[in-house]
Amino acid sequence: MIIVMGSDTTDAQLDAVVKKIEAAGLRANISRGIERIVVGAIGDERKLEAEMFTPLPGVESAMHIAKQYKIVSRESHKQDTVIDIAGVPLGGKQIQIIAGPCSVETQEQMDLAARFTHEAGCRLMRGGAFKPRTSPYAFQGHGVEGLDMFRKAAQKYKLPIVTELMDARQLDAFMEYDVDVIQIGTRNMQNFDLLKAVGKINKPIILKRGMSATISEWLMSAEYIAAGGNHNIIFCERGIRTFETAYRNVLDVTAIAVLKKETHLPVIVDPSHAGGKAWMVPALSQAAIAAGADGLLVEMHPSPCDAWCDADQALTPEELKKLMGTLGAIAGAIGRTV
Ligand code: PEP
Ligand code: MN
Repeated sequence: MIIVMGSDTTDAQLDAVVKKIEAAGLRANISRGIERIVVGAIGDERKLEAEMFTPLPGVESAMHIAKQYKIVSRESHKQDTVIDIAGVPLGGKQIQIIAGPCSVETQEQMDLAARFTHEAGCRLMRGGAFKPRTSPYAFQGHGVEGLDMFRKAAQKYKLPIVTELMDARQLDAFMEYDVDVIQIGTRNMQNFDLLKAVGKINKPIILKRGMSATISEWLMSAEYIAAGGNHNIIFCERGIRTFETAYRNVLDVTAIAVLKKETHLPVIVDPSHAGGKAWMVPALSQAAIAAGADGLLVEMHPSPCDAWCDADQALTPEELKKLMGTLGAIAGAIGRTV
């Protein structure tokens, strides 16, 4: 951390800053310029907060130099991490497309969805049993019963399952149904107690980006999970809120490039919740793969018009199949496979 002080700082004011640095177990290095005095705190600066110094007399500003995330950073781990999801690798040369409905509705719907996911060539399936709905009167998901339907449907095609956890109290049920990937949704990206809870298990976690979260906040949320011991984290860009109203969210393609630089962990993209319309999904999917995403999380429903949730953005089984073909060609152009 560096602490910037004015040139008229008194010795007593400078001494107070140095004492605070030393009390935290770090060393102070004082550099006197003509207009400013810069105090460098040398040691593990994660113990320091800017607010420890900014209220002190003479201090103009204080800032961290080291990143606040460690385990998830590429600085700490140079190679790409490949996460094993019940035998399916995510983060390597092979791109994974996770497909399935927004929510688990009926056993029949899930059986059909599993068949279509498998027939399209996808190796992982999604579906929400616990749904974070804006309205308390909207369908909230079937809960544990939904996990049961999902597990039964996916079993037939040996598809690992991805589903959202909203409350740590449901973790036992998730373990009981052996959920292969736990999704932490946008609305819970900074639910720190939930992040700590999934940090203590060893299931892969998809961490969706908060709808107005900066990349740095997102990385820190991942660090919460990693700090608990679970390093199997997959980032999922799903669009951010802006002033634009022509679509549901703005897919931040730039975030893919930034994350691939900042972290060794896999990065996937959810084009469905970004665009919010099925017709936008192919274009956004193609952009995501071309930009370096390691996978996609796509909503597909056996009959989109009848979907109980997010009907506008669900692909038909045929559209998913067609998309898989296009993505194969794009992946091939950048030395990857689908
Ligand atoms: C979902 O994937 O079903 C979902 C609710 O997504 P998000 O958290 O990105 O809104
Ligand atoms: Mn949805």
